[in-house]
Amino acid sequence: MLGGTFDPVHIGHLAAARAAIECARLDRVIFMPSGQPPHRPTAAASPEHRLEMTRLAISADARFAVSDLELRRPGVSFTSDTLRDLRALDRSAELFLILGWDAARLFSTWHQPDTVRRLATIVVVARPGSASPRQADLATAGLGGDRVILCLNPTPDVSASGIREDIKNGRSIAGKVPQAVERFIATHHLYAE
Ligand code: ATP
Repeated sequence: MLGGTFDPVHIGHLAAARAAIECARLDRVIFMPSGQPPHRPTAAASPEHRLEMTRLAISADARFAVSDLELRRPGVSFTSDTLRDLRALDRSAELFLILGWDAARLFSTWHQPDTVRRLATIVVVARPGSASPRQADLATAGLGGDRVILCLNPTPDVSASGIREDIKNGRSIAGKVPQAVERFIATHHLYAE
């Protein structure tokens, strides 16, 4: 599972998913747009738009799927609840949680981090712009020990906040999001002031 606000989904997310597939030999990645994340302000785009953009972005890769589980669950979206729901949907699946290092470094502040670690192997993907994590950094973040995979495959230096800023300032976002997402953003006038 790769959770995120996906506000909007971009090529960094797709690259992180592919990196995790390679590093952890995953069968597939479920993109999980967050309902109401505990750590951040509400998204700029609506849940429906974020879900649809994610659908468009993943459609070219058969190993990718999207779930609206968190969007349908009322209240704050805790990853521990989502992993429990995924486990209930498929008791035989081995679960992995993919986290960019910027998200992973806050892991010890999460709701029920021990439950998260019990339910899933964590795959930490390096994020350009912040220094690559080392094993000691993982331990400091509460991600020491086994069942944590460090994936240092490079991903593009793209962020959703940067893309929103580009749009607000009239700059092109070509190449930073899949073309279908770029068209969707333009058609629905998303992120423009
Ligand atoms: P924002 O800029 O608004 O903070 P974001 O680009 O970080 O957004 P999120 O939806 O918050 O996007 O990210 C979801 C997950 O994807 C997080 O675990 C994050 O670390 C990871 N991620 C996002 N962009 C990249 C990237 N370029 N490379 C690797 N991982 C990434």
